[in-house]
Amino acid sequence: MTDNALNESLGYAYEQARERLRKALENAGRAQDAATLLAVSKTKPAAMIRQAWQLGQREFGENYLQEALEKQAELADLDGIVWHFIGPLQSNKTRSVAEHFDWVHSVDRLKIAKRLSEQRPTNLAPLNICLQVNISREESKAGVLPEALEALAKEVAALPNLRLRGLMAIPAPAEGLDAQRQPLAALREALTNLQSSLPDAPLDTLSMGMSDDLEAAVLEGATLVRLGTAIFGARQTA
Ligand SMILES: *Cc1c(COP(=O)(O)O)cnc(C)c1O
Repeated sequence: MTDNALNESLGYAYEQARERLRKALENAGRAQDAATLLAVSKTKPAAMIRQAWQLGQREFGENYLQEALEKQAELADLDGIVWHFIGPLQSNKTRSVAEHFDWVHSVDRLKIAKRLSEQRPTNLAPLNICLQVNISREESKAGVLPEALEALAKEVAALPNLRLRGLMAIPAPAEGLDAQRQPLAALREALTNLQSSLPDAPLDTLSMGMSDDLEAAVLEGATLVRLGTAIFGARQTA
């Protein structure tokens, strides 16, 4: 594709995605600023991120550290860009994540949270954290189980260089709005419970809703929706 064709197809998809979020919020009876669009740019080139930025997008989500660092270096001139790390996080990667991201959505263990707090440069704002919850209780999937969430949240909330902002989940795929809503409602209830057990934590974020379940997530109170395919098109599978 030529640059112009790329521009046009991304521009169209981006406006469609924005319109989808606008309608979903309207149908849910929520304010237009009640949910923020996070553009998930994993596997997509820096040039596409730059185009999305030119269209007004500021929040970007990445899953793979090395790929993300390379794109960040290429895009260092873009003002106001906010980087979210949303992929699986091993201990040996925490330092780079703590140094180069504004948010991490995939924290599910105290050990990782402690390292992020210790390694967060003190000249930067505290790192915003969402705890990833294995809300569909899938075997061998990432995320803290719901019954272990409160204990983990209390420990993470006490770490000095982090701000515990909320919860993230990737529910098991489900067909139809009602089936999609169930795990998302459970995540919302889990956040409500945490808000009462940790009244001093800045818990304002429900990171849920992807290209396939955006409408269900907005109905259940998502505040940060993570769209990849809907904005950037299908990803090449390895
Ligand atoms: C890839 C990814 C997304 C985006 O998924 P799409 O279905 O392409 O919208 C959202 N969240 C996480 C954690 C992801 O890994």
